[in-house]
Amino acid sequence: MATNDDHLPRAPHAIEDFVRAYSESGKLRGFRCPHCGLVTATWGLACARCGHIGLEETELAPRGKVSAFTILHVPGDEFLNEAPYAYVVVELDGGGRITGWMSGVRDPSELKIGDRVRFEPSYKPGVQFVRDAEPPASA
Ligand SMILES: [Zn+2]
Repeated sequence: MATNDDHLPRAPHAIEDFVRAYSESGKLRGFRCPHCGLVTATWGLACARCGHIGLEETELAPRGKVSAFTILHVPGDEFLNEAPYAYVVVELDGGGRITGWMSGVRDPSELKIGDRVRFEPSYKPGVQFVRDAEPPASA
């Protein structure tokens, strides 16, 4: 069946490819606008800030701060041993916002918006973050 988006360009990678690459390479991948420099974790046809078409792949910074989180008490199969744990949204230092998970955070009082975290490759799916004691790199 033909759909209206048959003529649209496809994202260069499915999100699953990206997440798999996180654990295989130990690096977070994202996109950078060659026109205005915006860095994003999410592929788009055009830059969300300046509209430039043609985002380039880049490596995202592994450190950042928590911008939102929730505690999950009912995990998926891969996380049965972790629950409860935190599902976090992290604002990366060099730009880009990415979702991931944090082991050992069992109650909302144990994490704060703005807490420093860093990417830690894991054999489990998704993007694992751990607490980061180091100060942010000076911009
Ligand atoms: Zn741009």
